[in-house]
Amino acid sequence: MSLMPLVAAGQAILGKPLSARLTGYDIDVTLDPEKHIVSGMMTAWWVNNSSMPVGEAMMHMYLNAFSSNKSTFASKGNWSASGKEGWGWVKISSMSDGKGNDLTGLYGYVSPDDSNEHDKTVLRIALPEPVAPGDTLVLKLDFISKLPSPIRRTGYDEDFHFVAQWFPKFGVYETAGMRQREADGWNCHQFHPNSEFYSNHSVYNVSVTLPSEFVTGSGGMLIEEIDLGDGLKKVVWRAEDIVDFAWTAWPGYEVLDRKWNHVDITLLTSKTGLSKADNHFEAVIYALEYLNERVGPYPWPHLTFVDPPFNGSGAGGMEYTTLFTTMGAGAIPSFMKMAEMVTIHEFGHSYFMGMLASNEFEEPWVDEGINSYWEQRIVDHYYGDGYGLLRLPFLKMSDADQGRISYVTSPNRTIATNDLPSWMYPHGTYSMMSYNKAAVWLHTLEGIIGTETMDNVFREYYRRWAFKHPSGQDFIAVVNDVVKNEHGNRFGEDMNWFFNQVLYGQGECDYRVSGITSNRIRSYSGVVNGDSVTYTRSDRSSDTLYLSRVSLERLGEVILPVEVLIGFDTGEEVLENWDGTGAYKDYEYTGVGQVVWAKIDPYDKIDIDINRMNNSFTLDPSGATTRRMMNKFMFLVQMMISIFTL
Ligand SMILES: [Zn+2]
Repeated sequence: MSLMPLVAAGQAILGKPLSARLTGYDIDVTLDPEKHIVSGMMTAWWVNNSSMPVGEAMMHMYLNAFSSNKSTFASKGNWSASGKEGWGWVKISSMSDGKGNDLTGLYGYVSPDDSNEHDKTVLRIALPEPVAPGDTLVLKLDFISKLPSPIRRTGYDEDFHFVAQWFPKFGVYETAGMRQREADGWNCHQFHPNSEFYSNHSVYNVSVTLPSEFVTGSGGMLIEEIDLGDGLKKVVWRAEDIVDFAWTAWPGYEVLDRKWNHVDITLLTSKTGLSKADNHFEAVIYALEYLNERVGPYPWPHLTFVDPPFNGSGAGGMEYTTLFTTMGAGAIPSFMKMAEMVTIHEFGHSYFMGMLASNEFEEPWVDEGINSYWEQRIVDHYYGDGYGLLRLPFLKMSDADQGRISYVTSPNRTIATNDLPSWMYPHGTYSMMSYNKAAVWLHTLEGIIGTETMDNVFREYYRRWAFKHPSGQDFIAVVNDVVKNEHGNRFGEDMNWFFNQVLYGQGECDYRVSGITSNRIRSYSGVVNGDSVTYTRSDRSSDTLYLSRVSLERLGEVILPVEVLIGFDTGEEVLENWDGTGAYKDYEYTGVGQVVWAKIDPYDKIDIDINRMNNSFTLDPSGATTRRMMNKFMFLVQMMISIFTL
């Protein structure tokens, strides 16, 4: 544990603000680790950057999701407390504004998403006087937060505490035009089992008083740690331009530090996790390196991540920009990079969600889909192309394939579009769609426009939208601009045809080679008027020529341009480009060679093709059975890999 003050009190961490900083929180609380209660006071401020006065404020009261089994989170997500002590809640004991007006009686709970009267996760405050454009609303409040158990991202187990979604927090006041909004208004959704979050980038000054034996970490930079005597200490953190502030306290943490360029990286781990600390550091540094180069700079000088103890694993796999949690790697054999994958994924969120702070409630694919796509690229780049996730002599699996298999084997992959709000995905399709389908079509987009252009799309996405809350449509506009700039009209006027199918459409993509025929072209012979005739013209040599036909079919409704590689018995190969629009297509070849095989998408660009087994056809069937068996086996392995909430 570093006790050295890293930044003097009151000093800024970053040279200049990265965001508009429309909200900020000064919080001073005490943790009672016996009662699992965090209580204290908070001064929160919000700047009205709209051109109209605003008469109400909206705040998330996330911990109330755990206050009863009738909350939207608990009832839809089957969460229940472990006994009386397990319920979690947040209560405001007093609230006033910066002018000293007591706001008691002016606030109450609303349920904008589902009208659930038992849900108390969104607070609406009717302000005694409207906040004028450019003015700042200051709220001073005393609050008490009780952590839930079992832990679902936030909570406690015995003396392990992971304190997240823990304080009353402003929704986002969106102005007209932002994220294609028509009119100004608060965007403040309830806490749903599947949805994550959406917030302004904020400045946090957080002080926590707790027993000295607790080891702590947070998304902030440690300013100072003050010994208060009587076995108590006060930890002071500051964070700038992050979308949420979470912290953890547990006496059992071991603290390790590494440095990568300008970033001080701290790992909090259990003793049993120590043996895998190097793997986790390596993974997070890979991700830093890769995303810095291909998306944009990681701007903060600090980063903390947590490998929670076994009893705290419910806190694992979650992201708070400059703080994230991974999973224990202890029991995982080294040929499987599951834990490294989780570390890379959660770090990736500091870009997608942290810097590119999209609305995860409403458009989960913009965060989870894009982040899964990058996670897969990073895992497969560093741990091995084709076997990034799993590497055994007889069995290999890339991280990209792991995601793809989840999508292509889901029987209900066509029941919803990919642009739904997180809580609207039907029949348990949220993860498969927002993480996996979206990542699959992002890989497909990369296949079509090329890796270089794809990287430039993300550089431009970062340049244009970091710290500005982009929507899915804003991302698409970047794709259209960059593709046009680099390829002109090669793919059409814009790329909307692509997104209309894979994002806003429900269809699936399946191209197949239905067959190959190859026949000798014979000289004319037969019976004319009862007489047998054989023409012996100079073209007799045509007896040595063949007519080969390759028949292709489009079985799905999604239309994508596909390449087809065709092989002849002479060893010659021909690459055809089919626009993929027709329901079928035949290619014919006349020559001395016969077509012996054909392969659609030979360079694996069209990840979204749900059945790759029918992409190739060969007149020589040797090898086909083996491939089929292998595919079955891969499917079994996929089933065995547990799917984590990342
Ligand atoms: Zn994620």
